Amino acid sequence: MTYSVKEIFYTLQGEGFHSGRPAIFCRFTGCNLWSGREQDRSDAVCHFCDTDFIGTDGPGGGKFDTPISLAESIRKFWPNKETDQHPFVVCTGGEPALQLDEALVSALHQLDFEIAVETNGTLPLPANIDWVCVSPKANSKIIILKGNELKLVYPQEKNTPEKFSSLHFDHFFLQPMDDERLSYNTQACINYCLQHPQWKLSLQTHKIIGIP
Ligand code: SF4
Repeated sequence: MTYSVKEIFYTLQGEGFHSGRPAIFCRFTGCNLWSGREQDRSDAVCHFCDTDFIGTDGPGGGKFDTPISLAESIRKFWPNKETDQHPFVVCTGGEPALQLDEALVSALHQLDFEIAVETNGTLPLPANIDWVCVSPKANSKIIILKGNELKLVYPQEKNTPEKFSSLHFDHFFLQPMDDERLSYNTQACINYCLQHPQWKLSLQTHKIIGIP
């Protein structure tokens, strides 16, 4: 298959369990819950997206004809090629499950990668991904019901934390909705976590410190 990638970049993971960890982000083009066009936002399943995932024109983006060509392109972003540290890639989007397949997982593992995925949880995932983070979106039905991390943007009408707290994830995060009520939403997350210690606060630290 040909993989369409919006951008590839090296930064610190800003959110969730791996916050602060150096990571290569591979942002796949396209999402199944929104076209990415502003004129479609009000009719989309997912309304609050803050990501440009249209096209292949970002830094490092493009079309990749084979799994190994994409894996090798991602590998070039990792700095410490001589150390034992496994390179760490976060497959994101858009919705990475539209394109991430077993062939690409295998190619990345051949190059020693530890592979994380950030998905909306509505599509099947290939086997052998090392870290699965599901971020459920209101008005959608998740089918990935277990994993390493469940990260819920909060508050979302009809998508309350209680809907997910009995699923089989190792970590549960609430992340404030980044809209005009961000400081109110942050306090609501803090209050909820304090009252429900199963949940931890996730901040979008990359936005706070001004990195990609
Ligand atoms: S599911 Fe994720 S990538 Fe897709 S529109 Fe919503 S926030 Fe954006």
